[in-house]
Amino acid sequence: MEYNRRTATFNEDSASLATVGGRITAEYVLPDEARDTPHSRYLLNDDYETTGATLHYRNGEFFLHVRTKADVNDPEPVENGTVLGVDLGIENLAVTSTGMFWSADELNHWRTEYVERRRSLQECGTRWAHENVQSVGQKETGRFEQYLHRVANGLVTEAVEHGCSHIAFERLTDIRERMPRTRKFHEWAFDRLFGYVSYKAEARGISVEQVNPQYTSQRCSTCGFTVRENRPSQDTFCCQSCGYENHADYNAAKNIGLKLLRSQTGTEGGAPVGVRLNSGMLNTSGVTSAPSESVRVGVHAECHGL
Ligand SMILES: [Zn+2]
Repeated sequence: MEYNRRTATFNEDSASLATVGGRITAEYVLPDEARDTPHSRYLLNDDYETTGATLHYRNGEFFLHVRTKADVNDPEPVENGTVLGVDLGIENLAVTSTGMFWSADELNHWRTEYVERRRSLQECGTRWAHENVQSVGQKETGRFEQYLHRVANGLVTEAVEHGCSHIAFERLTDIRERMPRTRKFHEWAFDRLFGYVSYKAEARGISVEQVNPQYTSQRCSTCGFTVRENRPSQDTFCCQSCGYENHADYNAAKNIGLKLLRSQTGTEGGAPVGVRLNSGMLNTSGVTSAPSESVRVGVHAECHGL
């Protein structure tokens, strides 16, 4: 007998089940030792939600096989929506699935410059120098924030122009483990950027989600083939199966967008039906440092739509 959340209610120590004779309440018979059993791990754990069950009758006894799902942090379903995928990085601060690049050159350059200026002021050691270090720090933060606001505005505009209902980022926790070259400064910048995009997008009715970034840099966004050799260098993506070649960050941005869609459809492998993918080649020489404007590289703009 199959139960879902309409035909069954799951309580802590019992379940209310619909039967031909009306609702009945059946008490669970659980192991006495409640620690580290499947019941304590899934059934009695707030991190898991009960989604349904099957009732089995065997040797005169009833067994209820309960299904649980850890969906506390799962993104909201994307139904009939379109997703703008965003890849974050140290060389390219942000790259979208529509082929927009925001270089991080300017940020990295300022950073180096400020670090240098602070160092020479600190060596000076006077009271004047000390006060100057603080004002340099404030200016630095302000300048970075201003730049990040511009990028955030650009990302939201890109989503609006392409009728996207969602913007997908990779999950920002553990980013330093994934990108060993990431500094505290970059973590701060990614965090700020995500925050700015979140509230700016929300004001336009666009939801912003974070997806599990696993394999987004090694997976082919065209055929789904996933292997480390697909990414021979930092910038280059070259699928060992179908031969798809493109800028690695652009390929990753598409995968991030697709991941948000796939987390809903459960489709594995290639792109789900209805997702428009760009087959054109991205000209990586078109990626230049762009302090105040983004660079649109020579590809058709596209959205991943369901
Ligand atoms: Zn491929």
